Amino acid sequence: MAVPFLLQARGIRKAFGGVEVLHGVDLDAPGGSVLALLGENGAGKSTLVKIVAGDYQPDAGTVTVGGDSFSALTPLTAREHGIRMIFQELADAPTLTVAENISLGRWPKRGPFVRWDEIRRRAREVLDQLGVELDVDAPVGSLPVGERQIVEIARALSDRARCLILDEPTAALSAQETERLFGFVRRLREQGTALIYITHRLDEVFEISDRVAVLRDGGVALEGPTADFGRGDLVAAMVGRDIGEVARPAPPARVAPEPVLRFDGASVDGAFDDVALDVRPGEVVALYGKLGSGTAEVAESAFGLHQLSGGAIEIAGRSVRLRDPADAIAAGVGLLPSDRQREGAFLIRSVAENLAAPSWWSMRRGGLFISDRREADAYGRWHEALRVRSRNDPAQLLGTLSGGNQQKVLLGRWLERRSRVLLLIEPTRGVDVGARQEIYRAIRELAAGGVGVLVATSDYEEVVQLADRAVVMARGRVAARLADDEITTQRLTEEVGG
Ligand code: ADP
Ligand code: MG
Repeated sequence: MAVPFLLQARGIRKAFGGVEVLHGVDLDAPGGSVLALLGENGAGKSTLVKIVAGDYQPDAGTVTVGGDSFSALTPLTAREHGIRMIFQELADAPTLTVAENISLGRWPKRGPFVRWDEIRRRAREVLDQLGVELDVDAPVGSLPVGERQIVEIARALSDRARCLILDEPTAALSAQETERLFGFVRRLREQGTALIYITHRLDEVFEISDRVAVLRDGGVALEGPTADFGRGDLVAAMVGRDIGEVARPAPPARVAPEPVLRFDGASVDGAFDDVALDVRPGEVVALYGKLGSGTAEVAESAFGLHQLSGGAIEIAGRSVRLRDPADAIAAGVGLLPSDRQREGAFLIRSVAENLAAPSWWSMRRGGLFISDRREADAYGRWHEALRVRSRNDPAQLLGTLSGGNQQKVLLGRWLERRSRVLLLIEPTRGVDVGARQEIYRAIRELAAGGVGVLVATSDYEEVVQLADRAVVMARGRVAARLADDEITTQRLTEEVGG
C-alpha cells in the first residue's frame, strides 16, 4: 500500500543577522488536506515556507518529505520531491506565453529542437483539467493577476506537485477570483496534494482549510483541526491577546441628514460612469468593487486627482470644481492614498512632521515648512489617541513604523486638520489583523466625531467590519446599494458580479 504523502518540519530554527525569527517550529502538511498558516506580519510564515521550499537554509531542524529527511533542502531537491510554491510576488516569466510558462523549466525537446506543439498540447490539457479557458499563446504579462496565478497553479498541476504552498495568493484578488482559486485548491486536495495556504483573511481559513496553524513571534501559538476553533481563538492566538469577535460595527450614534459629500451622476472618462452616492457626517460608506472597477478613481476624483467628464460633486451642499488636491483640502477633504510606498516622500519624514503636514501632496512637492511647535502639538494630540506603536519619539521616521502604524499616523493628519470628508483607499491592504482592528476603530471614531468617511476597498471583510452603507461597483458603474444587515460577505460577493 502506498504511504500517504506527508511533509513534516521539526524544530526549525532560523536567524537573520543574529536575530532568531523562528524558534524551533514544527509543521505537518499531509497529502489531501489544506493547512492554513496564519500570523501577523513578521511572524515568520514566509520564512518558514521558504525553508520548506528550499529557498532558505534553516540553522537547525529537519524537513521530512515523502519519507526522506533533510537538514536543509535546496530548491532543486525540494522540486524533485514535488514541493512547489506560489509566491506573493509572482514568479512567472511575463514575456513568455501561457503555454511556455506552464512547462517552464522542462520544455520537451526532440534532439536540439523544442517541441512547441507539445508545450501547447500540455498547456491545453492541464487548463482543461482546471476547467478554465485561457489563450495558451497569450504572453503571461498581458493577463490580470488572478489569471497569472492560474497559470502558476496549472504549472504546479502539470508538474505533479505533491505539496503546493500558496503565500497570500488572494491579497490582490476579487471575491470571484478567490472563489475560483478555492475551486482549484479543492481539486488539488482531492488529488492528494498537500496544500499550505497562507492568508490574512479569517473567512478564508474557515472556508478552505482542514487544519490551521498560527505563528506568533517565530513560534507556533495554536495548531489543530480548523473546526475546533472560532474566529476569536485564531485572532487571540495571532495577536497574543483577546481582541474580541470580528463583527458588524455598532450603528452610528448620530448621522446628520444633509450629505457632506455627494456624487451626482459623476463620470470620469475611462474610469467610471454615472456614479451617484452620498456620504453624511457621522457615517462610513464603503465603495466596494474589484481592483480596477473604478472605486479608487471615484474617491480620488473627490480629492481633485481626476477631472469629471460629466455630472457633479457637491461638498456640504455646494457644487465644487476640484482642480487639484489643494482645492479639495481647502474644501475640507482628506485622502489616504492606497499605496503608501508610492508616495515615498513622507516615509522619510518624521512622525511629528507627518501629523502636522497639511497634506502628502504638499510634502511630495517639497515646499513645506512646519513650526516645531505645531509638530509638538500635533504629536501630543494624536500619538496617544491613535495608539501608534513606535519608539514614542516624534523624530522617528514614518517609514520605520509598521504599515498599520503608518496608516494611523496618516489618519491623525486629517484629524489634526479637522477634515469633514475623509477618503480612504484600500486602507488596510497588507496590514495585519491586530493593527487592522485598531485602524477600523480609529476610522469609526472619526466618523462618530462628525466626519463623513468614504472607503474604497476590494476587501469584502473590510466592508462588513467597517461600513454603515455599501455602494457596490462593477466595471465603473454602481451595481448595488446595501445598508445595515444587508452587508454580509455573501451579499457583497453576489452583487459584485463576475
Ligand atoms: P511573515 O511572512 O509572517 O510576515 P517573514 O517570515 O517574512 O514573516 O518575516 C519574519 C521575520 O524575519 C521578520 O522580522 C522579517 O523582518 C525577518 N526577515 C525575513 N526575511 C528576511 C531576510 N531575508 N533578511 C533579514 N530578515 C528577514
Ligand atoms: Mg509573508
